[in-house]
Amino acid sequence: MTRILVTGGAGYIGATAVELLLAQGHQISVLDDCSTGHAESLPSSVSFVEGSLLDRSAISLALQGCSSVIHFAGKSLVGESVIKPELYWSVNLIGSRNLLDEMRKAGVAKLVFSSSAATYGEPESVPIPESAPTRPTNAYGATKLAIDAMITDESRAHGLSAASLRYFNVAGAVKSQRGWLAERHDPETHLIPNVLNSTPENPVNIFGVDWPTADGTCIRDYVHVVDLIDAHIAALAAIEDGRIKRGTHEIINVGSGDGYSVKEVLQAAGLALGRNIPHVNSPRRSGDPAILIADIAKAKSLLNWRPTRDINQMVLDAANAFLNLTLSQESNK
Ligand code: UDP
Repeated sequence: MTRILVTGGAGYIGATAVELLLAQGHQISVLDDCSTGHAESLPSSVSFVEGSLLDRSAISLALQGCSSVIHFAGKSLVGESVIKPELYWSVNLIGSRNLLDEMRKAGVAKLVFSSSAATYGEPESVPIPESAPTRPTNAYGATKLAIDAMITDESRAHGLSAASLRYFNVAGAVKSQRGWLAERHDPETHLIPNVLNSTPENPVNIFGVDWPTADGTCIRDYVHVVDLIDAHIAALAAIEDGRIKRGTHEIINVGSGDGYSVKEVLQAAGLALGRNIPHVNSPRRSGDPAILIADIAKAKSLLNWRPTRDINQMVLDAANAFLNLTLSQESNK
């Protein structure tokens, strides 16, 4: 049995990882500053350190007894990163630098990192392979790209075995014994939560209906959060069994390899909720590329991983989580 440090384990994706790793029999430590995460997402069996990646003593405490790290912690809102780049460079880059230093001191040499498709920026063509040019269009993507470069150097110089998983659009939810682990941001900017929240008084905006796509709306590659975490577990296994060698850093896209338009997502949500989704056509949102789809050949061949949950499952799970959270919030009033 191994102990894994999950940074950002109180957030939506991190808490899902904790849930699935515990179910596989791993011991888990979590480091989270709870700036956007929710400590109540964590079961009592987790060894929890509430602290920031900017606090080296908190990292060192959280690393005790761990043999590997899955690093989710960080700021992750594209819009906010444009307004407050200093926050992103500080928490994401310096925080990750601190983590690598403390891992080296503690002799922990296995890392899986949450990178992002935002590192690629506007693609020249789709699907996007890992070898595509990296030209991020916002500070969020720029920090993820810089951290990837930092991990590559750390691996070469100090024998770290590492994988950066470049996420496309993560969706869906999982139910734990403590309730649904769902995406909760304030303010919410992501499509699926906004679709679920939409009411006749506050309809979801469709950002552009004049894109060069079949139905005129943007196409994204959505991957279920459970499939995403399975890719992390597969990456750790590849590090453990030497497919990812000591001193190497592999960059691997994680998506479904398929795309859905905004209108198709609305349709799937309408089916899941059994009602029409109130919406209005709005102007394009600045910085949105028309189509983003991952080339997931490397994840398939190196990690022996494939996604198994489609957009209907993602929207259905997100809708169940949304309905349950809404009901529990109402019953708390
Ligand atoms: N989108 C939309 N209305 C919203 C939020 C998003 O039409 O309220 C569109 C957005 O323009 C993009 C897609 O939905 O084409 C996914 O956006 P999201 O913010 O969820 O993820 P992103 O692809 O920006 O990371």
